[in-house]
Amino acid sequence: MKIYNFSAGPSILPQSTIENTAEAVKNFNGIGLSILEISHRSKDFQAVIDEAVALFKELLDIPEGYSVLFLGGGASMQFCMVPYNLLEKKAAYLNTGTWASKALKEAKLFGEIVEVASSKEALFNYIPKDYTVPADADYFHITTNNTIYGTEIRKDIDSPVPLVADMSSDIFSRPLDVSKYGLIYGGAQKNLAPAGVTFVIVKEELLGKVTRPIPTMLDYRTHIKEGSMFNTPPVLPIYSAMETLRWLKGLGGLAAMEKINLEKAALLYDAIDSSKIFTGTAKEEDRSIMNVCFVMKDEYKELEPEFQKFATERGMSGIKGHRSIGGFRASIYNAMPKSGVQALVDCMKEFERNH
Ligand code: PLP
Repeated sequence: MKIYNFSAGPSILPQSTIENTAEAVKNFNGIGLSILEISHRSKDFQAVIDEAVALFKELLDIPEGYSVLFLGGGASMQFCMVPYNLLEKKAAYLNTGTWASKALKEAKLFGEIVEVASSKEALFNYIPKDYTVPADADYFHITTNNTIYGTEIRKDIDSPVPLVADMSSDIFSRPLDVSKYGLIYGGAQKNLAPAGVTFVIVKEELLGKVTRPIPTMLDYRTHIKEGSMFNTPPVLPIYSAMETLRWLKGLGGLAAMEKINLEKAALLYDAIDSSKIFTGTAKEEDRSIMNVCFVMKDEYKELEPEFQKFATERGMSGIKGHRSIGGFRASIYNAMPKSGVQALVDCMKEFERNH
């Protein structure tokens, strides 16, 4: 039976990423050594990280003046690294979910934080639109895709101050206007690579403005200067990231990827909207094209465990919703084929016919 991986992260990766990574683990570049045992300073690995950076720049059309970094520590480390480097007095945060709340909590250690708006009162089922970003804030932080709640800011918003975005779960899902952002970061373990590497795209001119001393490892300038090699970088996840970026390029880049993602999301949301037993949890206009959250309508609520079992038996892996909202969450990241989404839709329809 074919198993489809709908996990929220770590999650599905392109088959070519998995196969080529497995090959590199056995015999990297045909040099007779595993990528697990080579020096990060070898010329073979330098070529990998150079290609990964070049593909980031090409696929996202990153303008001059920005650096691409591969770091450790996860997106969670960026929750403190961003304010450490950018927050002198005041920063603005849009609170759209658990991850945004965590970012905001860390930033409070460094200065005054203005929560410009929050959708917490509605269990984060929408993206607030009515807010003002203080013009004297050092930056404005958003989480573009709320992995847990299935909401997404799918356009590059205008901000009066440098825009900082956690794009852990929607990077590379659509073309971006990077020039509208001061800094973009994310853990790799959704659309890019296995867990272990964190990407940062940073506009260099924003750095060096805070007066506090910054520990060397937490200073973006250290990693820019050393080409992400100040310390030993996560070699294997960077290799996998390079493979995923090659796959994306081969597919036609981010415009082509977005078209496929929109088709997949429409297929699943249409099935939910036309269902008599399922209903979506996120407000329609803010629905994520990466994480589709749905529950059973009140009158069918007791069938949720039965559907969970039914779907799992038919190869749908990882569709259990996050514990904070329950129900189901189908993560349909870049690497999920349309046939996988169709299989889930078929499964939902079959279950509905039986009830
Ligand atoms: N931000 C978002 C939007 C996420 O979805 C996650 C993890 O799922 C994180 C941050 C935390 O990432 P990490 O585990 O890499 O610290």
